[in-house]
Amino acid sequence: MAVDPLIELRDVNKYYGELHVLQDIDLTVGRGEVVVVIGPSGSGKSTLCRTINRLETIESGTITLDGQPLPQEGKALAKLRAEVGMVFQSFNLFAHKTVLQNVSLAQIKVRRRRRDQADRRSRELLDRVGLLAHAEKYPAQLSGGQQQRVAIARALAMEPKALLFDEPTSALDPEMINEVLEVMRQLARDGMTMVVVTHEMGFARSAAHRVVFMADGRIVEDRTPEEFFTAPRSERAKDFLSKIL
Ligand code: ADP
Ligand code: MG
Repeated sequence: MAVDPLIELRDVNKYYGELHVLQDIDLTVGRGEVVVVIGPSGSGKSTLCRTINRLETIESGTITLDGQPLPQEGKALAKLRAEVGMVFQSFNLFAHKTVLQNVSLAQIKVRRRRRDQADRRSRELLDRVGLLAHAEKYPAQLSGGQQQRVAIARALAMEPKALLFDEPTSALDPEMINEVLEVMRQLARDGMTMVVVTHEMGFARSAAHRVVFMADGRIVEDRTPEEFFTAPRSERAKDFLSKIL
């Protein structure tokens, strides 16, 4: 894919105390590109995601979005979090608000939309993730897979430039995984820029433009899924794949 860089990490290092959790990370995510991040537990995948929308600070290196360094604080930081949406393993919906209110809330607070405009947009997005009929329900009345699709609609409502997914299906019962992956595949086809941490290798093979394999805080491989799955170069990746495939 011709790279029109949207997210760029250069020589990024991060520590948690003594732990060098991200080591010399170089990563470019092109506009419209889907990058799947895989690797053993504790390798730094979540931390990598969290640094990209600045839920975590870094000790050295640079991260840019659309050529601009990530903002440090204030309104610009809130705007960044809207532009780089994040979908977590736990759906983090507001339990005491309806599905519609969950999707509209940040549009009103952060994007300053009028409620009727926000609600109209929310209904469009709920329709897109197949949940329009559930707009007036509360999260507890939905299945896990449905709740995760609401969380995706909520992130989309901010009109993000990119979406980060941190193990979005890990907390789901097996029969619900596919409905969430299908929404993500559709987003990929629509050209959304996505960084996806997942153990779903079928998704990585079919939807990713690139697979990034991390181990011990480093990017060990960064290649097409075809190359990675048929001929992993590193012992770490071979070992990892032999355990999960
Ligand atoms: P992964 O998502 O690949 O499982 P993480 O990014 O969550 O890895 O964690 C990488 C390493 O950093 C792990 O050793 C983890 O224990 C450690 N870690 C994660 N978050 C923190 C934190 N807030 N404080 C200290 N150590 C942390
Ligand atoms: Mg993690």
